[in-house]
Amino acid sequence: MSKKYDVIAIGMGPGSIFMAYELIQLNKNKRILLIEQGKRVEERMCPIEKTGVCAKCKPFCHITSGFSGAGAFSDGKLSLYNEEDEDIYVGGNLHKYIGIEETKKIIDYTDDIYLKFGADNKLEGIKYKKEVKQIKEKARKEGLNLIDIPIRHLGTEKAHELYKKLENYLEENNVELRFKTIVEDLIIENNVAKGVIVKDAYNQNTVEKIYGDNIVVAVGRKGANWLVNMCEKYDIKTEAGIVDIGVRYELSDAVMKDINKYMYEGKFIGRPEPFKDKVRTFCQNPSGFVSSEVYDNNLSLVNGHSYKDRKSSNTNLAILVSHHFNYPFSKPIEYGRNIAKNLNELGDGNIVVQRLGDIYRGKRTWEEELKNNSIQPTLKSAVAGDITFALGYRTMTDILQFIREMDKVIEGFANPENLLYAPEIKFYSNQVIINEHFETSVKKLYSIGDGGGMTRGLMMASASGVKMARILDQIQNSKGNNNARRK
Ligand SMILES: Cc1cc2nc3c(=O)[nH]c(=O)nc-3n(C[C@H](O)[C@H](O)[C@H](O)COP(=O)(O)OP(=O)(O)OC[C@H]3O[C@@H](n4cnc5c(N)ncnc54)[C@H](O)[C@@H]3O)c2cc1C
Repeated sequence: MSKKYDVIAIGMGPGSIFMAYELIQLNKNKRILLIEQGKRVEERMCPIEKTGVCAKCKPFCHITSGFSGAGAFSDGKLSLYNEEDEDIYVGGNLHKYIGIEETKKIIDYTDDIYLKFGADNKLEGIKYKKEVKQIKEKARKEGLNLIDIPIRHLGTEKAHELYKKLENYLEENNVELRFKTIVEDLIIENNVAKGVIVKDAYNQNTVEKIYGDNIVVAVGRKGANWLVNMCEKYDIKTEAGIVDIGVRYELSDAVMKDINKYMYEGKFIGRPEPFKDKVRTFCQNPSGFVSSEVYDNNLSLVNGHSYKDRKSSNTNLAILVSHHFNYPFSKPIEYGRNIAKNLNELGDGNIVVQRLGDIYRGKRTWEEELKNNSIQPTLKSAVAGDITFALGYRTMTDILQFIREMDKVIEGFANPENLLYAPEIKFYSNQVIINEHFETSVKKLYSIGDGGGMTRGLMMASASGVKMARILDQIQNSKGNNNARRK
């Protein structure tokens, strides 16, 4: 039989990486294996940078897969927390499992690791308290909540360097990193996880079983669909999740200048009439670039990032509507996928872009009109069209009403020449039920990061990995003590 590991993690996003880092700090002798379907961070390269066209890379999109997961090409905004706040507002629900105080401590600890591996010392969003307070009050009058928290901005190119150092560090400390390997299935016997079944991403006939004492699922949004299948197959307990559907909104830096300067990223949350759904801005990129990423079955989704050195004159941000479904429908991922599929078809396989004013006028946007538009799209491969053909009435109404409310806080937010790209969808639905040890209803099978719905961002996903390591170490120590006592 092949070698058995103490811990096997599926996926090599921040969740797994920080888990492995912390496991090394706690015990250098652990046998740790991380399995990733994508490539090493230094081999990840999105061709759109050079060609302006999404090549739909096979077998996996470089934006979403490979060492550091969705983190490598992410803008690298690490959302921290405010000491005075009694809640953790951004990035997920880790605090619901381990409490607010411990979450804050782990975020500090994780932030220190990012700093140790080269993150910028500068924190955004802490210098202009008075100005932020004024915007907050203005927002409140419009029924919008502005969440201000400190942000450490890595920048896309710097994030690459930082993750390369982490990749080296893990290998130097004997963590086995297995790339270009797809985890196809789990090995579960009598409701206990025993290992995984893998195949080579480039030679799918090579199937191998790998065994481990603890199996950690950290597959991110990319693996959310795979995880749904595993949950169905092995009756891993889940609860109805949400899916966030919306657009990537691009507007002039000049309009966003105060928010960009005072906060770098403004997180606004509203509940516009008549549906009162939660609508929020997310992942704001000053002087940034809109990007596209490819998920399973060639599904193209829009995203955005910004660099430390390369700048555009536009700011982009997501406007997302949270969709909860009730009886008898409980397939949020499928709902989101269908919307994305329709939009992709409307764009001939590409992201669709439309001017806000054209939506108000009830017409599509034409390529010629886009050429003369004051806001030039930074995603060159996006196709001018009509997103309202595919985004539902409820989603569109929520977004348009939210934009109107935002315009009263930030003048120019509803400029008719602003651009809406779609589909922007966040598949963190299908909440996997876990206990305080992050263990699922299958014993020795754990879930961390975005994939199982616990987190929604880099810092929280990384912090969930740190905590996972401490839990596993504690479990092993208590097992060791029990064995010693028995002897
Ligand atoms: C363009 C972009 C910009 C972003 N910007 C920010 C930002 O500024 N700030 C922020 O906080 N967050 C940002 N995010 C989100 C952030 O990157 C994620 O929240 C974070 O990476 C989640 O970490 P994770 O470890 O849970 O999963 P991921 O980082 O998604 O990693 C999961 C990994 O698992 C692998 N995998 C999945 N299934 C399998 C399988 N069956 N077999 C083998 N491998 C598998 C995937 O290939 C992937 O590499 C951004 C995301 C994107 C795409």
